[in-house]
Amino acid sequence: MLTKVAPAVVMLGQNSLAVASKIINILPGATLYGLDGRTSGVDVSFTNFGETLRELFAEGTPLIGICAAGILIRTLAPVISDKRQEPPVIAVAEDGSAVVPLLGGLNGVNDLARRIAEALDVSASITTTGDLRFRTALLSPPPGYHLANPEDAKTFISDLLAGGKVKLEGTAPWLSNSQIPIDPKGELTIRISDRSSAVEPSCLVYHPATVAIGMNDTSGDEKDVLALLAQAGLAASSVAGIFAPISAAKNPAINAVASALGVPARFFTSNQLETHLSQGYSPAQAAAIAATGTSPAAHADMTLAIAIAPQPIDPSTIGQPRGRLAIIGTGPGGSQWMSPEVKEILKSATDLVGYKTYLDLVGGLGNGKQRHESDNREELARAKMALDLASTGRYVAVVSSGDPGIYAMAAAVFEVLDCHPQAEWDSVEIYVSPGISAMQAAAAAIGAPLGHDFCAISLSDILKPWSIIEQRIAAAAEADFVIAFYNPVSKERTWQLAAARDILLRYRTPDTPVVLARNVGRPGQTVKAIALDQLAPAVADMRTVILVGSTKTRTVKRSDGSIAVYTPRQYS
Ligand code: SAH
Repeated sequence: MLTKVAPAVVMLGQNSLAVASKIINILPGATLYGLDGRTSGVDVSFTNFGETLRELFAEGTPLIGICAAGILIRTLAPVISDKRQEPPVIAVAEDGSAVVPLLGGLNGVNDLARRIAEALDVSASITTTGDLRFRTALLSPPPGYHLANPEDAKTFISDLLAGGKVKLEGTAPWLSNSQIPIDPKGELTIRISDRSSAVEPSCLVYHPATVAIGMNDTSGDEKDVLALLAQAGLAASSVAGIFAPISAAKNPAINAVASALGVPARFFTSNQLETHLSQGYSPAQAAAIAATGTSPAAHADMTLAIAIAPQPIDPSTIGQPRGRLAIIGTGPGGSQWMSPEVKEILKSATDLVGYKTYLDLVGGLGNGKQRHESDNREELARAKMALDLASTGRYVAVVSSGDPGIYAMAAAVFEVLDCHPQAEWDSVEIYVSPGISAMQAAAAAIGAPLGHDFCAISLSDILKPWSIIEQRIAAAAEADFVIAFYNPVSKERTWQLAAARDILLRYRTPDTPVVLARNVGRPGQTVKAIALDQLAPAVADMRTVILVGSTKTRTVKRSDGSIAVYTPRQYS
């Protein structure tokens, strides 16, 4: 089976870029890793080659190193332990002249190497005897087939290499088209069957993914599904997918069963069903439709059903997955302050929704995704659009800078869910992934001004009247909070900051420390401390966050001349 995780293409020098790009082009979702200081224009730059590779390997990421085979061998040697689990590892010559599969024979390394070799116009250096002799890898069957007894494969293949002939029971085009010596009188057997049966060493059993399981809102759990399969004498590894009407997508049991069986859950909208029923369906689709109990022949009270297709079912061609909406915060700027979870979501999402500047901030991680840019002010329309997209089965990431829950998109999404609910959105799984907010990054850059109680106030009066803002600043100042001002000034909005300062001066001394942090974490970052009475619209813009100290906030001058600002943890 080919590994599902997207590969990592790793390069050590800029000379490898041409070859790396050709490889990336044929591997959608692949991430380009490059050695820091030696490469540019990569998705992820790393400093420690060994650690990075071993970590990716341990996660099961297929590795394509544009470097000598020996480098990969020595780097990964300490972590090679289980040939069933190891991901494909391939060495590619810097000039693209050689593609050498090294590890991951059971996880499709030869197929991956052939695809890469084809893109580079060379032939892959395949060294696996069975693969060369029989033009197929019995240990790693194509998608749609699962080898039930891999423990018997070694002896079986040795017998085959020694001249054994194979009796084929059942149908599997990939075997009939291979160069395996098929003979009805063969002493070895390959059986293709969705039945669970005892295995013997002279017989390899492949379970084809021909079984569709239908569930709905009232279906049971994994135990019930396994019991039903056992009752029918079917092998659990022949299950191709769990199928259900979209209205049941929110039933956690369905997703739990699917992940327990390691198969996708796929859902039918009523439109999709109507189209199938009026315009026809493939045998595989018919099985899925029958299993969901939505075909005319089904019983009305059916809660769990099985249907069997004549050929393996490719679930990705049937119905749609449950839609997902991830509302993510990229942090204030560069990749180093973006959480690993956010990077993971960016890699897996199919669609990115957001203000152009924020989508640009995600850099190479956004490659190959559908981008839906919009104006910064159209938050509600953007939230609706993202939910609509997700309800069609897409994996949508709504991208905000900083934290998505702080003056950003998360609240907008829940606001439309609350105030303008749509039935189609019910099936969408919603997840908010936090980020480092501008005030935190700004505080860190200059010390610890948020070391005691603080609050955040947006000075934008687009979504709330100035009278409220004014009142809030006065209350926060009186309560002696450190205040983080977001959206302090814009081209059209300048007087508010001066007005805010005047309110603050009623409660704070003119020398109260104020931190001006502009473009934090981005190129051109400036972070400095001034005194409250110097605060004026000209010192800030839309890319500035301002931290106004409390009466306790202090500055420390260090021997190198730098100034740190902090707020003590206690009132003495
Ligand atoms: N969700 C964001 C805030 C968005 S509101 C967060 O959590 O950071 C936009 C305001 O955030 C800007 O006007 C500015 O005040 C502040 N801001 C966002 N990114 C910033 C950065 N990199 N440097 C300084 N301020 C920033």
